[in-house]
Amino acid sequence: MADDARDKAARRRDPKPSATSRRSFLKSGAAAGVGGAAALAGLAAQEAQAQAPPLAGQVRWSREVDVVVIGAGASGLPAAIAARDQGATVLLVEQHFDIGGIAIMSGGMIHMGGGNRIQKEKGVQDSPDLAFTDWVNAENGEAKFNDRDLVRKWADESVPTFEFLTANGLDWDEKFLGGPGDASSVPRQVRPKEWPIRKDLVAFDQGRNGSGIVRALEQSARKKGVEILLSHRMTNVVREGDRRGRVMGATFVQVDRNFTPTNQTLNVRARRGVILCTGGHGNNVEFRRSFDPRLTAEYQWHGQTLAPHNADGAKAAMAIGASMWATANQTAEAGEAFNKGRIATRDNYIRGLITPESPIFFRAKASGMNVTDWQNLILVKENGKRFYDELDSSYDGFFAHAMAWTGDPAKLNGGGPIWAIFDSEAVKREKWGTEAPVVDRERGYFFSADTLEELAAQMKRNPFQWREMPGTTLRETVERFNTFVDTGIDLDFKRRKPTHKIATPPFYAAWATPSLHDSLSGIRINTKCQVMDLQADVIPGLYAAGETAGGFALHGLGRAIVFGRIAGMEAAKDGARSTRA
Ligand SMILES: Cc1cc2nc3c(=O)[nH]c(=O)nc-3n(C[C@H](O)[C@H](O)[C@H](O)COP(=O)(O)OP(=O)(O)OC[C@H]3O[C@@H](n4cnc5c(N)ncnc54)[C@H](O)[C@@H]3O)c2cc1C
Repeated sequence: MADDARDKAARRRDPKPSATSRRSFLKSGAAAGVGGAAALAGLAAQEAQAQAPPLAGQVRWSREVDVVVIGAGASGLPAAIAARDQGATVLLVEQHFDIGGIAIMSGGMIHMGGGNRIQKEKGVQDSPDLAFTDWVNAENGEAKFNDRDLVRKWADESVPTFEFLTANGLDWDEKFLGGPGDASSVPRQVRPKEWPIRKDLVAFDQGRNGSGIVRALEQSARKKGVEILLSHRMTNVVREGDRRGRVMGATFVQVDRNFTPTNQTLNVRARRGVILCTGGHGNNVEFRRSFDPRLTAEYQWHGQTLAPHNADGAKAAMAIGASMWATANQTAEAGEAFNKGRIATRDNYIRGLITPESPIFFRAKASGMNVTDWQNLILVKENGKRFYDELDSSYDGFFAHAMAWTGDPAKLNGGGPIWAIFDSEAVKREKWGTEAPVVDRERGYFFSADTLEELAAQMKRNPFQWREMPGTTLRETVERFNTFVDTGIDLDFKRRKPTHKIATPPFYAAWATPSLHDSLSGIRINTKCQVMDLQADVIPGLYAAGETAGGFALHGLGRAIVFGRIAGMEAAKDGARSTRA
């Protein structure tokens, strides 16, 4: 008998939880948020909780519905609507003070396909079979580690999902069909028009078509009777018994606008299912380092200000036995995992999504500088040395170079903060503002000084500058670069025609460390979006979709929306609904 089968047989024989785990639960029961006070101790408490699962009868339920969906973004909204369409009562819980997740700031390009109406009208020949073969192609980096069953499901459900989105109010941008892109061989990306309200959460005049997805779905969900509860963060999922029972519900703590917990916890019982739609793990340094230890804290995550992806769903699922899936997809240099953005602010994802007019600006503190010509600066490591051709803006190029080594002669692996260095002439050419709210001097992401030595000395105020930048090194780097401008030849990194010297004080240093993009791996689900454990057994009553789920390295919205809808449909008709209190 294989080990897995032996384990399963043993568990069938002895379904009782062990005394040790009961004791450990009783010890940590309060921290597990089953009505106790320790659950309110903030996010640190969340790390401690879910050490042991609650047992039946120990949870005081505050609410009861058929389906609880956690996270109101790209996967959560369709999950909630699809469950409601099946007649389930649905509570959709979101930690932020608004719905939308990072999807609301997205470009809204949904990678689906399979032969939808817009593809047909544009004469694109596509089919579920072609979509499937593209995304399991062994020779394509984005496809070769994918779970074939999940890809098949995505391929088959893409057209029905397009129709679902249409029926739920998405107003398609009929002119647009993007791609092919990534592993696709034909154009598949469709997008809705932007939501018509201009002063949205972050979609302030920025071409944020993602608002056209989530606002339309929010409107439809509310109209259909989905209840939406904002400003509540899920802290743990409640499973009956000791890694054998059914998922019974989830615990939430109320949070303020800075995601700080208040004194309110809420235990919500889910008769049919709990669906985790909490996004990925990009904002959780220790979790992401389990994939790649080099992903240290200096790399900001592109949605940290809006809707942090803290691995909450994955951690809660793993605490009750869930497995991870297709972790090979999350290699550091994979596709769009990393990005080059704005400078002088920690929230540096492209195009200045967070402007002072945005209701979340209080978290970002600065809108950052947009670089129109990278000839205007050099990029240095935290030791003051250049490390690559600054004109290379490819997804892979910048990050691979930024993270590959520390800049030491010994070529130690791992990165460190990256700084853009420029002078006052560059500021004039780019027409940059050098004070708040454009730059973040207050928290140490922007500095200026009359000499390069003074500039280097200031940088230790930045929390991630783990060693002092030697002033002489920075000066020598700049002087050497200036000789390349004289000759027109970059002897170190072959930058094309170095154009501008860095010579006119004041000199500036602006935070330019790249940001992390997608989570390309997550917890294991099957084609019904049921979460699975290490024995490939389903965890009854638990579902997941979006970036919190693994198995398929398709960037962004297409994967989230298709599987969100599936999770909602499946949870709502979960026949094994719990009948116990
Ligand atoms: C600027 C930008 C542009 C993008 N453009 C595109 C694009 O054009 N096309 C594309 O395909 N993709 C794009 N993406 C990526 C895409 O938006 C995401 O991949 C997608 O939104 C992921 O869906 P999700 O449901 O997993 O996460 P989200 O949409 O972020 O939703 C997750 C939600 O869960 C909430 N949550 C997290 N933890 C908890 C908790 N413990 N309790 C309660 N709630 C919680 C979060 O606050 C969030 O609202 C873009 C992303 C960004 C940032």
